[in-house]
Amino acid sequence: MLFVPWKYIADWKCKACGLCCKAYSVVLNFQEWLKIVNNYGVDKTVSGLNKLFIKRRSDGSCIFLYNLSNTHICGLQHMKPKACKLWPFKILSRPDFGYAEEAAYDFGEKTFFIYADSTCKGLTYGRPAWEFVNQTLKEFIEISLGLRSEQFKTTADIPFLQPYAGFRILSIRRDYF
Ligand code: SF4
Ligand code: SF4
Repeated sequence: MLFVPWKYIADWKCKACGLCCKAYSVVLNFQEWLKIVNNYGVDKTVSGLNKLFIKRRSDGSCIFLYNLSNTHICGLQHMKPKACKLWPFKILSRPDFGYAEEAAYDFGEKTFFIYADSTCKGLTYGRPAWEFVNQTLKEFIEISLGLRSEQFKTTADIPFLQPYAGFRILSIRRDYF
Protein backbone atom coordinates (compact mmCIF):
# COMPACT_ATOMS: atom_id res chain seq x y z
CA MET A 1 0.00 0.00 0.00
CA LEU A 2 1.10 3.53 -0.71
CA PHE A 3 0.57 6.43 1.70
CA VAL A 4 -0.03 9.78 0.05
CA PRO A 5 0.56 13.07 1.93
CA TRP A 6 -2.59 15.17 2.16
CA LYS A 7 -1.24 18.09 0.12
CA TYR A 8 -1.54 15.90 -3.01
CA ILE A 9 -5.22 15.22 -2.32
CA ALA A 10 -7.96 17.51 -3.63
CA ASP A 11 -10.78 15.87 -1.72
CA TRP A 12 -12.05 12.73 -0.06
CA LYS A 13 -15.60 11.47 0.01
CA CYS A 14 -16.41 7.94 1.09
CA LYS A 15 -18.23 6.08 -1.69
CA ALA A 16 -19.46 3.31 0.65
CA CYS A 17 -17.82 0.79 -1.68
CA GLY A 18 -17.05 -1.47 1.28
CA LEU A 19 -13.55 -2.28 0.05
CA CYS A 20 -11.86 -1.32 3.32
CA CYS A 21 -14.35 -3.38 5.36
CA LYS A 22 -13.32 -6.42 3.36
CA ALA A 23 -9.60 -5.86 2.96
CA TYR A 24 -8.50 -5.17 6.53
CA SER A 25 -9.07 -6.48 10.01
CA VAL A 26 -10.28 -3.97 12.57
CA VAL A 27 -8.13 -3.66 15.67
CA LEU A 28 -10.16 -2.85 18.79
CA ASN A 29 -9.05 -1.21 22.00
CA PHE A 30 -10.31 -2.81 25.18
CA GLN A 31 -13.27 -0.43 25.68
CA GLU A 32 -14.41 -0.94 22.08
CA TRP A 33 -14.09 -4.71 22.48
CA LEU A 34 -16.10 -4.61 25.73
CA LYS A 35 -18.95 -2.63 24.16
CA ILE A 36 -19.22 -5.05 21.24
CA VAL A 37 -19.08 -8.07 23.52
CA ASN A 38 -21.76 -6.63 25.83
CA ASN A 39 -24.06 -5.77 22.94
CA TYR A 40 -23.45 -8.53 20.40
CA GLY A 41 -21.57 -11.30 22.17
CA VAL A 42 -17.98 -12.37 22.35
CA ASP A 43 -18.34 -14.47 19.19
CA LYS A 44 -18.38 -11.26 17.11
CA THR A 45 -14.76 -10.68 18.06
CA VAL A 46 -11.51 -12.61 17.83
CA SER A 47 -8.25 -12.29 19.70
CA GLY A 48 -4.82 -12.40 18.14
CA LEU A 49 -1.44 -12.65 19.81
CA ASN A 50 -1.81 -9.43 21.75
CA LYS A 51 -4.65 -7.72 19.89
CA LEU A 52 -8.43 -7.82 19.72
CA PHE A 53 -10.27 -7.76 16.40
CA ILE A 54 -13.77 -7.72 14.95
CA LYS A 55 -14.62 -11.09 13.47
CA ARG A 56 -14.57 -11.46 9.69
CA ARG A 57 -16.79 -13.62 7.52
CA SER A 58 -15.34 -16.37 5.36
CA ASP A 59 -15.08 -13.92 2.42
CA GLY A 60 -12.95 -11.61 4.59
CA SER A 61 -15.62 -8.99 5.17
CA CYS A 62 -16.35 -7.54 8.60
CA ILE A 63 -19.18 -9.33 10.40
CA PHE A 64 -20.97 -5.97 10.76
CA LEU A 65 -20.84 -5.01 7.08
CA TYR A 66 -24.15 -5.01 5.18
CA ASN A 67 -24.75 -4.57 1.48
CA LEU A 68 -27.84 -2.61 0.43
CA SER A 69 -28.01 -2.52 -3.37
CA ASN A 70 -24.22 -2.16 -3.60
CA THR A 71 -24.13 0.52 -0.92
CA HIS A 72 -22.13 -0.85 1.96
CA ILE A 73 -23.39 -0.02 5.41
CA CYS A 74 -21.77 -0.42 8.79
CA GLY A 75 -24.00 -2.09 11.35
CA LEU A 76 -21.99 -0.65 14.22
CA GLN A 77 -22.99 2.98 13.73
CA HIS A 78 -23.43 3.75 17.42
CA MET A 79 -20.15 2.14 18.51
CA LYS A 80 -17.93 2.29 15.48
CA PRO A 81 -14.28 1.67 16.38
CA LYS A 82 -11.93 4.61 16.06
CA ALA A 83 -9.78 2.71 13.55
CA CYS A 84 -12.83 2.56 11.26
CA LYS A 85 -13.63 6.23 11.70
CA LEU A 86 -10.12 7.30 10.79
CA TRP A 87 -9.55 5.16 7.73
CA PRO A 88 -8.10 5.88 5.11
CA PHE A 89 -6.13 8.59 6.93
CA LYS A 90 -3.12 8.20 9.16
CA ILE A 91 -2.63 11.09 11.57
CA LEU A 92 0.84 10.93 13.01
CA SER A 93 3.03 13.04 15.23
CA ARG A 94 6.06 12.31 13.03
CA PRO A 95 6.47 12.09 9.25
CA ASP A 96 6.84 8.31 9.28
CA PHE A 97 5.99 7.94 5.60
CA GLY A 98 8.26 10.73 4.36
CA TYR A 99 7.31 13.93 2.48
CA ALA A 100 7.27 15.86 5.77
CA GLU A 101 6.46 19.20 4.18
CA GLU A 102 3.60 17.80 2.08
CA ALA A 103 2.17 15.86 5.03
CA ALA A 104 2.44 18.61 7.69
CA TYR A 105 -0.85 19.98 9.06
CA ASP A 106 -0.99 22.59 11.78
CA PHE A 107 -3.69 22.09 14.39
CA GLY A 108 -3.66 24.46 17.34
CA GLU A 109 -0.10 24.66 18.54
CA LYS A 110 0.79 21.25 17.15
CA THR A 111 1.87 19.99 13.77
CA PHE A 112 0.59 16.60 12.64
CA PHE A 113 1.59 14.58 9.58
CA ILE A 114 -1.34 13.27 7.59
CA TYR A 115 -1.27 10.57 4.91
CA ALA A 116 -4.00 8.65 3.10
CA ASP A 117 -3.99 5.01 2.03
CA SER A 118 -4.09 5.19 -1.77
CA THR A 119 -6.27 2.07 -2.06
CA CYS A 120 -9.31 4.05 -0.92
CA LYS A 121 -11.68 4.78 -3.81
CA GLY A 122 -12.89 8.01 -2.27
CA LEU A 123 -9.70 9.98 -2.90
CA THR A 124 -9.44 12.64 -5.61
CA TYR A 125 -5.93 13.88 -6.31
CA GLY A 126 -5.01 17.47 -7.01
CA ARG A 127 -4.89 20.80 -5.22
CA PRO A 128 -6.59 20.45 -1.81
CA ALA A 129 -10.06 22.01 -1.68
CA TRP A 130 -10.91 24.41 1.16
CA GLU A 131 -13.59 22.10 2.60
CA PHE A 132 -11.23 19.14 2.59
CA VAL A 133 -8.48 21.05 4.40
CA ASN A 134 -10.54 23.03 6.88
CA GLN A 135 -13.43 20.71 7.62
CA THR A 136 -12.71 17.11 6.62
CA LEU A 137 -9.10 16.86 7.83
CA LYS A 138 -9.89 18.92 10.91
CA GLU A 139 -12.65 16.46 11.82
CA PHE A 140 -10.31 13.51 11.30
CA ILE A 141 -7.80 15.07 13.69
CA GLU A 142 -10.48 15.81 16.29
CA ILE A 143 -11.63 12.18 16.16
CA SER A 144 -8.06 10.99 16.35
CA LEU A 145 -7.46 13.10 19.47
CA GLY A 146 -10.74 12.02 21.08
CA LEU A 147 -12.12 15.59 20.90
CA ARG A 148 -15.23 14.40 19.05
CA SER A 149 -16.95 11.16 18.16
CA GLU A 150 -19.72 12.25 15.79
CA GLN A 151 -18.91 12.15 12.11
CA PHE A 152 -20.14 14.63 9.52
CA LYS A 153 -17.40 15.21 6.99
CA THR A 154 -15.57 11.97 7.68
CA THR A 155 -18.40 9.68 6.67
CA ALA A 156 -20.25 8.71 3.53
CA ASP A 157 -23.45 10.66 3.05
CA ILE A 158 -26.19 8.26 1.96
CA PRO A 159 -29.26 10.36 1.12
CA PHE A 160 -31.83 7.55 1.15
CA LEU A 161 -30.96 6.75 4.75
CA GLN A 162 -31.17 10.32 6.01
CA PRO A 163 -34.86 10.18 6.95
CA TYR A 164 -34.23 7.26 9.26
CA ALA A 165 -33.23 8.58 12.67
CA GLY A 166 -30.51 10.76 11.24
CA PHE A 167 -28.67 7.62 10.25
CA ARG A 168 -25.46 8.48 8.49
CA ILE A 169 -23.16 5.89 7.11
CA LEU A 170 -19.85 6.25 8.76
CA SER A 171 -16.89 5.65 6.67
CA ILE A 172 -14.85 2.92 7.80
CA ARG A 173 -11.44 2.86 8.90
CA ARG A 174 -9.10 0.63 10.59
CA ASP A 175 -5.60 0.08 11.76
CA TYR A 176 -3.04 -1.84 9.87
CA PHE A 177 -1.34 -4.71 11.56
S1 SF4 B 1 -13.34 4.66 2.91
FE1 SF4 B 1 -12.70 4.39 0.76
S2 SF4 B 1 -12.46 2.18 0.43
FE2 SF4 B 1 -13.66 2.47 2.33
S3 SF4 B 1 -15.83 2.38 1.74
FE3 SF4 B 1 -15.22 4.55 1.69
S4 SF4 B 1 -14.53 4.91 -0.43
FE4 SF4 B 1 -14.59 2.68 -0.14
S1 SF4 C 1 -16.86 0.36 9.48
FE1 SF4 C 1 -18.31 -1.05 10.40
S2 SF4 C 1 -18.60 -2.65 8.86
FE2 SF4 C 1 -16.72 -1.57 8.31
S3 SF4 C 1 -15.05 -2.68 9.29
FE3 SF4 C 1 -15.66 -1.06 10.73
S4 SF4 C 1 -17.18 -2.01 12.06
FE4 SF4 C 1 -16.98 -3.31 10.25
